[in-house]
Amino acid sequence: MENPAVPGSIPGPRDSFAHCPRCGASSAGNSHNRAFVCANCGFTLYFNIACAFGGLITDADGRLLLVRRAKEPSKGLLAFPGGFADPGEDAESGLRREVREEVGLSVEVTDYLCSHTNLYAYKEITYPVLDFFYLCRVVAPNDKPLTLQASEIAGSEWRDPSGIDPDEIAFASQQWALRCYREKIK
Ligand SMILES: [Zn+2]
Repeated sequence: MENPAVPGSIPGPRDSFAHCPRCGASSAGNSHNRAFVCANCGFTLYFNIACAFGGLITDADGRLLLVRRAKEPSKGLLAFPGGFADPGEDAESGLRREVREEVGLSVEVTDYLCSHTNLYAYKEITYPVLDFFYLCRVVAPNDKPLTLQASEIAGSEWRDPSGIDPDEIAFASQQWALRCYREKIK
């Protein structure tokens, strides 16, 4: 399968600042593709991609855990638990942390699945993101309801992978991960 590119233009430094954040000079003439470079004082700020990860967590019946997003972007759509890497954090540790925070589960990362680019629009800035997806299993399964992080998560569902409509899933990257997962378990 070919990993499709995310549609839409990637925002760059030229679109983000009208003035230099350090000296206040006009940013007109800033033409660098990846960095804001001030023509007046030389201040340079690279706009690197953010790194995020999602977990395809299965239960004993092979169902996948999905959470319903409580906030924009893609509020109300389903997603795999996960989030952005903190500075100094590797993907596996970050994924375990995010899953613990979002649904209160301890998981073990068992395998890498795929990656996909994403655009994450949050409060007037659109961040270019690289999403990594991993297969996970629950370390200590129990029948108790999940502990959901109310600020981020409006609900959770265990779903048969074959019964999930991609249109229910937030972001092209997460839809791609679902597709890769279905190919893998065929
Ligand atoms: Zn400057």
